[in-house]
Amino acid sequence: MSALEQLKVRLADVNALNAAESVLGWDQQCYMPSGGAEARGEHMAVLSRMAHEIFTASETGEAVEKAKAQVDPESEDAAMLDVVARDYALRTKIPASLVAEQAKTAAQAHEIWVAARKANDFAAFAPILEKMVELARQTAEHLGYKEHIYDALTDLYEEGATKKGWEQMFGGMKEPLVALVSKISASPQVDDSFLYGDWPESSQRSFTEMLLKEIGFDLNRGRQDTAPHPFCTNFSIGDVRLTTRFKNYLPSAVMGTLHEAGHGMYEQGSPLSWDRTPLAGGVSLGVHESQSRTWENIVGRSKPFWSLYLPKLKETFPTLSPLDLETFYKGINKVEASLIRVEADEVTYNLHIMIRFELECAMMEGSLAIKDLPAAWNEKYREFLGIVPPTDSDGCLQDVHWSSGLMGYFPTYSMGNLLSYQIWNCLVADLGDVDSLMAKGEFKPILDWLIEKVYRHGRRYKPAELIHMATGKPLGPEDYLAGITDKYSAIYGLN
Ligand code: ZN
Repeated sequence: MSALEQLKVRLADVNALNAAESVLGWDQQCYMPSGGAEARGEHMAVLSRMAHEIFTASETGEAVEKAKAQVDPESEDAAMLDVVARDYALRTKIPASLVAEQAKTAAQAHEIWVAARKANDFAAFAPILEKMVELARQTAEHLGYKEHIYDALTDLYEEGATKKGWEQMFGGMKEPLVALVSKISASPQVDDSFLYGDWPESSQRSFTEMLLKEIGFDLNRGRQDTAPHPFCTNFSIGDVRLTTRFKNYLPSAVMGTLHEAGHGMYEQGSPLSWDRTPLAGGVSLGVHESQSRTWENIVGRSKPFWSLYLPKLKETFPTLSPLDLETFYKGINKVEASLIRVEADEVTYNLHIMIRFELECAMMEGSLAIKDLPAAWNEKYREFLGIVPPTDSDGCLQDVHWSSGLMGYFPTYSMGNLLSYQIWNCLVADLGDVDSLMAKGEFKPILDWLIEKVYRHGRRYKPAELIHMATGKPLGPEDYLAGITDKYSAIYGLN
């Protein structure tokens, strides 16, 4: 066997262990009785350790080096070796003892965070957050960086990203966004009260499954279940799992389904020949999020889409019958400066992210002491959104990320918002009247274009290369800003 073949066998083993762990994780969220929690945690930890040991063994690194000399540098195999080399370097640079300490501390931090958030008690959370930040710093030092300590961590989630790069991205949109939000806040608010009600779960389920089929999520290679927090996971290209949740706010299930379907169709769009290899799947968190946002916001909150599906929604939920399209469209696009990120609309969302980005950079470099986080948080909410959280539970204690040690992750959400519009504009330039396609329920040309330009490339190219190939330019805020300014100026009658 050649070094390349040996490596592929090893990677297939790692893939199988990871898939088994993912099935257990999916089941834990969707079906497992609570009595299974402790054993399930142990089972998953064993699989995770076995996969880690095989992947980080010196044999993997040696096989990559040998194989590199044997393959055509322009081939798929060469691209696969690059992906494995990056993952191998990231996984082997951090000492096992630090990984273990981080996992242990994160488990404690999570419990403390849940209790502190419930009791609105930041002081109870501060010491363990301090420890998580210190461990993140140590991780960054092991990974290495050129300019800023934040660079080492954010690169884990978005290859090639840096503090400076994110600052450029945010710098271009902060002022226009703050200005747009304040104009909208000064305008008469749209009504969305009709979206709240006692919507039968079975009807929500059948309606969202209908939408999945219509837009092109392949239910022969995937399914949808319910879970407390919506997510998408997959065990192979042929088995992609979505979850949604049914609430008294109707868009929670509908938009959540379209969001996760966007992630899912990206996963389903990898070439089948790449199944169970490191080339399959999404290239980065930011690019992945651009696709969930495309199907949720650009398609799923558009007027053409609902010109087709509002009548079907009314058939499913007859109390909505008196609604006209315009009122419904405005209601699902309501913009409001609010305290909670996960409930934010597509205009204010990036402001929530900018606040977190600035604060986590400051915590990492040590210019913001952990004890001063609540005051700094509240001050930024006043500055960016014009509101101040009445409690830390609705303020700096609201997100799970920092308690899990996820520093440098937040900006990828904003990147997704920006990139969704940037890619969409190229799609429209190629396909022409996309609004009429959506109004007729013809999503195949749209999905095929996205597969061709983005999904079928999996992890073959670096994120920045893929963005350039798909859109002809680097990531920037212009398309997003122009898109939301147009859309919301019309909705709120701004001039
Ligand atoms: Zn997402």
